[in-house]
Amino acid sequence: MSQKKAITVARGDGIGPEIMDATLRILEAAGARIEPEYIDIGEKVYLAGNSAGIDRPAWDSIRRTKLLFKAPITTPQGGGYKSLNVTIRKSLGLFANVRPVQAFNPYVETHYPDMDVVIVRENEEDLYAGIEHRQTNDVTQCLKLITRPGSEKVIRYAFEYARTYNRRKVTCMIKDNIMKVTDGLFHKVFDEIAAEYPDIEAHQQIIDIGTARVATAPERYDVIVTPNLYGDIISDVVAEVSGSVGMAGSANIGTEVSMFEAIHGSAPDIAGQNKANPSGLINAALQMLVHIGQPDVAEQIHNAWLRTIEDGMHTADIYRPGHSVHLVGTSEFADAIIDRLGQAPERLRRWSIDSDTDTRITIPGYTRHATTKTLVGADLFVDWVGDPMDANVIGTDLERLATEAGGALKLKMITNRGVKVYPDGFPETFLTDHWRCRFVNSATKPAGEQTDYKAVEHTDVTRLMDVLTAGGYEVIKTENLYLFDGERGFSLGQGE
Ligand code: NAD
Repeated sequence: MSQKKAITVARGDGIGPEIMDATLRILEAAGARIEPEYIDIGEKVYLAGNSAGIDRPAWDSIRRTKLLFKAPITTPQGGGYKSLNVTIRKSLGLFANVRPVQAFNPYVETHYPDMDVVIVRENEEDLYAGIEHRQTNDVTQCLKLITRPGSEKVIRYAFEYARTYNRRKVTCMIKDNIMKVTDGLFHKVFDEIAAEYPDIEAHQQIIDIGTARVATAPERYDVIVTPNLYGDIISDVVAEVSGSVGMAGSANIGTEVSMFEAIHGSAPDIAGQNKANPSGLINAALQMLVHIGQPDVAEQIHNAWLRTIEDGMHTADIYRPGHSVHLVGTSEFADAIIDRLGQAPERLRRWSIDSDTDTRITIPGYTRHATTKTLVGADLFVDWVGDPMDANVIGTDLERLATEAGGALKLKMITNRGVKVYPDGFPETFLTDHWRCRFVNSATKPAGEQTDYKAVEHTDVTRLMDVLTAGGYEVIKTENLYLFDGERGFSLGQGE
């Protein structure tokens, strides 16, 4: 018998303590070789004045055990509290959020009896970097960061997961018809990594039709890998159409530390009433047991849990007169599973991971391939309100100031909310006070041909900024325009 594995356990808020206690009782009865180490995080800690919701001893425990088994926590509303989940995921580098969702037909009502989908969501970056600014009176901005290492890690994890768990297909969902640079990178990395896994089908789909199809034909999907925000949305869609938010668990996987939790929240409306379904947390525990090399225990619990569902022992969220046999509370549901340890389901698909399968997934470290980076211009964002609001007024004035600056940079175009308004804009285009003014080397090819970008100096940009400022313009931000190994590292304006 191997040594017990220390795990950090947070019992959470609301229904958290009830479902955690029920789950730990099942784990103990099944002989899980674990040693819980309890920490307090969440509401109690927030209300004691720690706005992060987690204190130093709790961090120390998680970093020591490298495993957090977490019941849901309540994020107090109204205050400026940060989401503790996002803090934990990002601080500990939990790059992949893995959420398997399946139907338990006919025992849990769903329109999609054959669905069995795993969402692998990028978990650290994208719009969740949370870098937001109000830049002008009219305009706010949130930075969407998609990185090569972040994309490589989560996409490779999705393929490794598919291979380990005998899944056939990985679908990448992105919106790179619009976000050609950011989502374009995610898609490009997907294609590169997919080529290393010829045994697994690789598909890509634009996220909008992908979400529609996931909601109406989830059985067509197997593993889905997607950036953070899309993954957040489609994983809730998938959980909802499977029948109950109370059923699914999720793993947050990092290189060092991992966290396991139910997908649902702390359900304050039913807290303390012994009504909650502990299945989501139980399924998270099964992922954790596989992760720590105890798939034998996971198999036993999974089969007993399926048998309990088949036997019609149902908590209120999945109870249906006619289909269910007994309405049970949280602790009775746990008792029913414990009573069935050693039994297997008769109709539902039983645990299918061979205990000899090596389920450890390791992701290689990131190798940075250096590129040659050439500065060819800059986008200067200007806060400007004209009377009249005429793009030709600001356009001709900025052309004059660029000439005055005397450097290599000339005004190429101005966009307003991404649409080209100068030169040759349309009077119908709505204008805000936020103007993106693109300056590139004057040595450009004639209109209609691709721009032949030429290198400029950083001092060309700073001098231009000084001249614009002296000319009465407020430059609220600049973005340098680079070529990487000669390839454009910035998008064109709509209509450019
Ligand atoms: P919720 O998931 O807690 O509840 C939504 C609905 O589903 C409620 O009607 C609830 O009773 C029901 N429900 C949820 N889990 C259930 C279960 N196991 N069994 C039976 N019914 C269940 O979502 P919410 O109400 O939006 O959020 C409540 C709190 O949870 C908020 O403070 C939120 O910030 C927090 N939250 C935490 C996490 C987390 O810790 N990972 C995730 C989501 C929400």
